[in-house]
Amino acid sequence: MSTNSLEKLACLGGGAVRSASWPSWPRADKNTEKLLLDVLYSGRWAISGMYNGTPLFERRFSEAFAEYHSVLYCTPVVNGSAAITIALEALEIGYGDEVLVPGITWVACASAVLRVGGIPVLVDVDPDTLCMSVDAARSSITSKTKAILLVHLYCSIADIDSFLSISREFNIPIIEDCSQAHGAVFNERRVGSFGRIAVFSMQDGKVLTSGEGGAAITNDVLLYERMQQLRSDGRRYRSDPIVNQIELEEIGMVQGRNLCMSEFHAAILCDRLMHLDEENAVRNKNATYLNQSFNEIGGIKQIKFATKGFTVNTYYQYCGEVDTAIFENVNIKRICQALTSELGILFEPVDSPLNNNILYNPFLSKRLPLEEGFRSLVDPRKYKLNTAVKAAENHFTFPHRALLGSKSDIDSIVDAFLKVKRLSYQLLS
Ligand SMILES: *Cc1c(COP(=O)(O)O)cnc(C)c1O
Repeated sequence: MSTNSLEKLACLGGGAVRSASWPSWPRADKNTEKLLLDVLYSGRWAISGMYNGTPLFERRFSEAFAEYHSVLYCTPVVNGSAAITIALEALEIGYGDEVLVPGITWVACASAVLRVGGIPVLVDVDPDTLCMSVDAARSSITSKTKAILLVHLYCSIADIDSFLSISREFNIPIIEDCSQAHGAVFNERRVGSFGRIAVFSMQDGKVLTSGEGGAAITNDVLLYERMQQLRSDGRRYRSDPIVNQIELEEIGMVQGRNLCMSEFHAAILCDRLMHLDEENAVRNKNATYLNQSFNEIGGIKQIKFATKGFTVNTYYQYCGEVDTAIFENVNIKRICQALTSELGILFEPVDSPLNNNILYNPFLSKRLPLEEGFRSLVDPRKYKLNTAVKAAENHFTFPHRALLGSKSDIDSIVDAFLKVKRLSYQLLS
């Protein structure tokens, strides 16, 4: 304190560790632009438009994305929430059916279950990976459990092997939610190829993005058939499309709705998918360097990639755990604010556990049957989620674009942590 009595945290008016900008996200280049212009003047912007003899970007993306995961089928949709919805409906999950959802995840995982009339059963998380806990999942299973929504969170991968054995033992399908793990690998297979269905979001912040977008992949032809129709008002692609006529034929095997991805979004994804592996590699390299630096500081560590198995993880967000004692036991929100001010990129605690999350309030929906019985079944407050609640008090996240630059970007992150650690007493008042 004596040598640096003038030094102040940026959030209290001092000079920031960093003023330089960060790598931008989302990314685009000349090819993205070219493909978008191709769509613009193609005379066809939607899969429900008239067939003009050229293959749709939507179908090209669908094929490329399925192939990328070594699975047979892919159904692109408007967003990740829609992907969860059609996955649930394809598995014939509906009124009164229970679906296991991890206690920490994006709210859409729970709200999508509600939307099909199901009951989201909140399951506590593993303290190392923050993904759904195997033991907690086991003890949450009842005769009404119809699916497990297994989310690979932030930069880790759920315990896939153990969940596959649970799935076999109880005959409950797994829907993998890979919205935060595009391109991650577990035991030499891409995540998303393990569940009966896997869903993805291509929202703006995700590592593969078209602004808004989503997809559901599967190896099961019946599930694919249903999902295809669920997202296009009960229609599917014709095998013999005729120029100047609609490429879709009316089947009506399921009650569908329109959740189709536009040609513009699909064109962007066709282009950006080609960059995914290379961008993941850059993030991995920088994160490894950051992890080493954190080890040297002590008291800060990245969450584990996975509880077991050989993995190549991806970084949707870097997520780390801090021993708040090294920051004078300051509240994690304050620590994140201080780091945000030093670095000019958003540091945040993990998503609020779903038993106490302002975005998750089933009772605000008039779609729910109002009997008391159903209300108590979906009440988030009845869950304890001890590990999730604790994790929310000592974990931080920051977005993946901070990992897309150079070593010196990572050095600035380390400098900010050191400064906030050194001056955390200033946050006490
Ligand atoms: C982003 C996300 C979603 C929702 O996707 P949207 O495209 O925003 O609808 C679902 N699950 C997880 C784990 C996510 O991160």
